[in-house]
Amino acid sequence: MPRVIVVGAGPAGLASAIFLARAGVEVLVLEGAPGLRARPGGEGMMPPGVAQLAELGVLEAVRARGASAFQGIAYFDGGRELARADFPAPPAVAGGLRADGAAGDAGLGVRRPGLEVALLGRLSGLGSEEVRFGCAVQGLVWRDGRVAGVALRDRRELAAAVLGADGLKSTVRRMIGAESRPRRAGARFGVCGHFEWESSRPQMTHVQVHLVEGGELYRTPCGAGVEGWIFLSREEVVRGWVSRGGRGLSAGFEAHARSVPELARALEGARLLGRVGAVGPLQAPATRRWAPGVLLVGDAAGFLDALTGEGLALGLTTARAAVELLLESGLRVGFSEGHRYERAWRDATRQPWALTRALLFLTARRWLALQALGRLGRHPDAMRRLLGINCGYGGLGRFLAADLPRLILG
Ligand SMILES: Cc1cc2nc3c(=O)[nH]c(=O)nc-3n(C[C@H](O)[C@H](O)[C@H](O)COP(=O)(O)OP(=O)(O)OC[C@H]3O[C@@H](n4cnc5c(N)ncnc54)[C@H](O)[C@@H]3O)c2cc1C
Repeated sequence: MPRVIVVGAGPAGLASAIFLARAGVEVLVLEGAPGLRARPGGEGMMPPGVAQLAELGVLEAVRARGASAFQGIAYFDGGRELARADFPAPPAVAGGLRADGAAGDAGLGVRRPGLEVALLGRLSGLGSEEVRFGCAVQGLVWRDGRVAGVALRDRRELAAAVLGADGLKSTVRRMIGAESRPRRAGARFGVCGHFEWESSRPQMTHVQVHLVEGGELYRTPCGAGVEGWIFLSREEVVRGWVSRGGRGLSAGFEAHARSVPELARALEGARLLGRVGAVGPLQAPATRRWAPGVLLVGDAAGFLDALTGEGLALGLTTARAAVELLLESGLRVGFSEGHRYERAWRDATRQPWALTRALLFLTARRWLALQALGRLGRHPDAMRRLLGINCGYGGLGRFLAADLPRLILG
């Protein structure tokens, strides 16, 4: 009997499996898809996530697959830069997360599934793991009030504990009754594609966020000559430009990008690479992150929105927290472990999510967003502190007490 079953071979699931296998725990990873594949999702990893990759021993493998470092974030409106800041250095007390000095204050743009391929490569060498693709978990096996395994289409697999790492639409979350249905009206979606430039051009040093009609466009450098472009917008806006002229998602995405003058200029000499994918609704809250025998990690544990780009880093952080707890408890998840994990998860997400909520409020009020970004542009130290808050370095109190009054006064 495998000791721990991990449901989902995304970044959070594979990282969990590496942490477990490295500690000598037998681990079975069950992935519903037939293999690792390109799919819409995050590609701009924040610095704490990069430090976790170093800690997992995969940073070099990820870089070797064609990743790009970036130093911070820049916001634009109509082609004009409104605000820009570099990531702050992580505090010495950041949970020991800075495993590789060089990785500490830069983010990393990496195309999916390159990230998963590197993680799987690392896992494969560890010896106590088994990974099965094409094995969608359909239900949970309950015994004496606790989860004792998972149900596949044609069989059951038993384990001491189950980690639900099955993403935004988590089956495990639903099966433990922790799903909280978000409002569908006004739901935000993400549309993701890649562009490639044949001629060499200077590498972007910052992830660029462009405020465009109906949403935001994120440009992330993802290896030499390649950028990931993601539109985040309301469902009806996305449906509008897909259905216009019956072009389908990829053509609608490209036509929409080229219809915005500053983006059309940026796309000169570029071609769309591969297929475009859409995902949503982005908001997928969970009412709790555990049940007897189960912990939820990564997006399965709850997701708010992609606009602050901390999902990958949080996925790795929550994977590590869940595994540390399992190792301490001898793989038992009861009431006390569940509550400890819940606290650890809240500590990890509190400040980044406060920022996400504030930005969601602003993006729905464009005039206010422009005002706020204009003022951040005049106070780059305050913006830098916000990037630190998003990285989980703390500082919200200082921001509210010192920076916010300065920003309000202009
Ligand atoms: C549009 C968009 C843009 C984003 N941009 C960023 C960004 O710039 N930076 C950032 O850090 N984050 C970003 N994110 C968030 C980031 O993509 C996620 O936080 C991250 O992928 C979560 O990883 P995960 O392993 O939890 O889930 P996933 O990556 O979703 O992996 C879940 C895995 O579980 C599998 N699975 C699902 N159901 C089952 C089942 N029943 N049985 C077995 N397997 C199953 C799936 O096939 C998948 O392989 C973005 C997200 C979106 C949607």
